[in-house]
Amino acid sequence: MRRHFRNASIIDASGAAPFQGTVTVEGTKIAAVTRSPVEAAGAPGEEVIDCTGYTLLPGLTEAHCHISFNNLTSIYSAVEIQPEDHSLIALANAQLLLQRGFTSLFSAASAKPRVDVAVRDAINRGLFEGPRMRAAGQEITPTGNLGDLDTTYLTFPRTLRFSIACDGADEFMRAARLAARDGVDTIKVNVSGDRDWGHMHADDTVTVITERELAAVMEVANARRLTVATHCSSSAGVKMCVRQGVPVIFHAPHADSEARDMLESVKDKVFVVPGAGFPISMLRRHDEFRLNWSAEKLASLEREIAIFTDCMRDLHKRGVRVLPGGDYGAFITAPMGENAKDFEYFVELFGFTPMEVIVAATRHGADLMQMGQEVGQIKAGYCADLVLLDGDPLADIRIFQDPNRILAVLKDGKFAKRDAALSRAASPIRKTA
Ligand SMILES: [Zn+2]
Repeated sequence: MRRHFRNASIIDASGAAPFQGTVTVEGTKIAAVTRSPVEAAGAPGEEVIDCTGYTLLPGLTEAHCHISFNNLTSIYSAVEIQPEDHSLIALANAQLLLQRGFTSLFSAASAKPRVDVAVRDAINRGLFEGPRMRAAGQEITPTGNLGDLDTTYLTFPRTLRFSIACDGADEFMRAARLAARDGVDTIKVNVSGDRDWGHMHADDTVTVITERELAAVMEVANARRLTVATHCSSSAGVKMCVRQGVPVIFHAPHADSEARDMLESVKDKVFVVPGAGFPISMLRRHDEFRLNWSAEKLASLEREIAIFTDCMRDLHKRGVRVLPGGDYGAFITAPMGENAKDFEYFVELFGFTPMEVIVAATRHGADLMQMGQEVGQIKAGYCADLVLLDGDPLADIRIFQDPNRILAVLKDGKFAKRDAALSRAASPIRKTA
């Protein structure tokens, strides 16, 4: 079956301005991209879909994704879900994100060891529809840091927690090898503390890991060609990550000018994903969810947002690849499926143009997935991962947030979503010339 998406406004994600044209999909691939005024010919057995007024762009990448976090109400709520249920919940979330245009997910940790892996493999085997996935395992963290749920009196089973505590290079190396044994693509390591972990002397300015511990993980990852992604908010942590060659750094709000220089010096090798949605949603929606937070808590969120806004604006100006993806699902204020809100924040706060956000979420996202030669652009020969929007996202980036404006999603040339209105518009046309 050949399908012509005719007369669409095409954003090919090369960075070029949109143009009117026709994209032809054959099998799993983009067969041709034709600029108007060429009229696509609908031969028998071909389908022509009239896309007048619609925008066609590559499928999106969610760059900080937790499909096993289902709108948690507390840090313990993921622990309570039993593994069988948890895998199915994660699969449903992956499918939801595909419906919202995210054809690729880069995981930032799984709430139990093999949840991401099981979902990825089931999709790849064709058991279920779903997006492309780079699977991660649990977060590997030093004792007494973000994700360490144990106390002196209470120890959770290692396999039920979203993080595992390790100390010393040998334990970090062992945890990395166990993640490799589980079949992950990405090893997630917590380099710094985080907001709300100050009681363990591990707030977001503290670098909790030692360089030898991080180096041990890198040694395992490099030998097995695995990716390492770090939770890293502190400035010293960012510098350590760059020294150790970590390719994916999450958050990075406190990176000082030296850390930013270091990031800029490796800008072709590194990705920074601030995770904007989570803290911004906590500040803007706490009332809606009746969280009754103190004035101090809200003021500290405001400070945090101001700090990472300043840093991301600067990194973007320096040409560092900053990608949308914001811990959706990790807390009720940022529900799974609302992930495209990050696009709006990038425009509103980080000085991105709508086109720059789209390029970050598509072409750069594909590079993050290590699939930049296959997906992330509208180009003949590339996989047909496509999103068709009703309207112009360059005029209003919020279009991505409205499921009703997402008329079609294709992965590998196959419709994952197809709006009924689109079927009606589809009619074979004859060549007029
Ligand atoms: Zn996260």
